[in-house]
Amino acid sequence: MITKNTNSKQCHLCVNNAKSVDYKDVEMLKGHLDTHARIVKHRRSSTCSKHQRAVATAVKRARFLALLPYLAG
Ligand SMILES: [Zn+2]
Repeated sequence: MITKNTNSKQCHLCVNNAKSVDYKDVEMLKGHLDTHARIVKHRRSSTCSKHQRAVATAVKRARFLALLPYLAG
């Protein structure tokens, strides 16, 4: 069965009028990681494609600087 996230339909970065995603904003990026520290798909986080790409790049930069883990759990 396909479950759909109906809580928030809009991209929260678009709502906050974010021009870019800061890789140093670790607390925000943690919201885009699951329990295994994988990047959450846009279908689940309801992030638009533009911001999903920016989030993925920011997470990868933060991982390289050891601000976020590559693996967890
Ligand atoms: Zn967006």
